[in-house]
Amino acid sequence: MYDVIIIGKGPAGISASLYIKRANLSVLVIGKDIGALEKAKIIENYYGITATGKEIAQIGIKQAISIGVLIKNEEVFSISYDDKFEIETNQGKYQSKAVLLATGANRISPKIKGIKEFEGKGISYCAICDGFLYRGQDVAVLGSGEYAFHEAQELSNIVKSVTILTNGNRNTKTEKLQNSNITINNNLIKELEGDNIIRKVKFTDNTELPIKGVFVAEGVATSIDFARKLGAKIDQNKIIVNSKMETNIPGLYAAGDCIGGLLQISTAVAEGAIAGTEIIKFIR
Ligand SMILES: Cc1cc2nc3c(=O)[nH]c(=O)nc-3n(C[C@H](O)[C@H](O)[C@H](O)COP(=O)(O)OP(=O)(O)OC[C@H]3O[C@@H](n4cnc5c(N)ncnc54)[C@H](O)[C@@H]3O)c2cc1C
Repeated sequence: MYDVIIIGKGPAGISASLYIKRANLSVLVIGKDIGALEKAKIIENYYGITATGKEIAQIGIKQAISIGVLIKNEEVFSISYDDKFEIETNQGKYQSKAVLLATGANRISPKIKGIKEFEGKGISYCAICDGFLYRGQDVAVLGSGEYAFHEAQELSNIVKSVTILTNGNRNTKTEKLQNSNITINNNLIKELEGDNIIRKVKFTDNTELPIKGVFVAEGVATSIDFARKLGAKIDQNKIIVNSKMETNIPGLYAAGDCIGGLLQISTAVAEGAIAGTEIIKFIR
């Protein structure tokens, strides 16, 4: 078990890891890629350095590795808490006493007619939170990555059937679906339809799928998804933290773009530093 697991190897996560490692605590950083800085061309407003986003990210990661921070390049699917945090990735499971969520800005909801309208009326963003409400029923998972498969698998034990709606993004993971109640539908979605609750998915080829619930799991799971699973407070796609970067869940912290505010490297680094020092106090 680690003292601390940090999800995200962008400026917020790496900054926190420097403080935690130098305090002699065990820390694991899990990051899928370098995050927002991958797309940033030349950065001219960060103190002391002018470089591309990628270069700045790589300097930070190299610095963390040089002081002994362990970084794993994995995708996190879910977090649970049962006297310790357990993080599940595409490679395995890891436990820790504290967790820092630093996965960057939240993704935008898929632009499919009906998603916003049926939020709370059949549209859900968390299989583990809401799956039980759909026990014995037919549901769908919207998404085509590994996260969508993970959510479908969570649901498959509770519901009658799960259809993964890839919305045309054909995937190659069909071997995972042998002998299960999970099927894949690669049709393009036209809209989600219903009355006071969602009733069906309509596809552009005029076929329909009767459905009781749709779980949105597009792309990669975000800090918001993790916070939601653990019962941490969220406001308009931002995790609510206090000035110590603490969420309302003891041992769960968040920093960087996922808490909103000025979405810049300097703020992410500062919030990571605050989270790191506060986590050290928490562990001790
Ligand atoms: C095009 C562009 C230009 C920008 N220009 C500037 C600029 O000039 N100056 C400036 O200060 N800022 C700029 N920014 C903003 C800056 O990049 C961000 O504010 C900063 O990177 C936020 O840091 P972060 O650590 O919160 O998140 P990020 O840097 O986004 O890092 C998030 C990390 O979380 C990981 N992650 C996410 N989900 C998962 C998962 N499920 N499992 C595992 N890992 C996961 C990612 O792989 C990544 O490692 C720019 C951003 C963009 C997109």
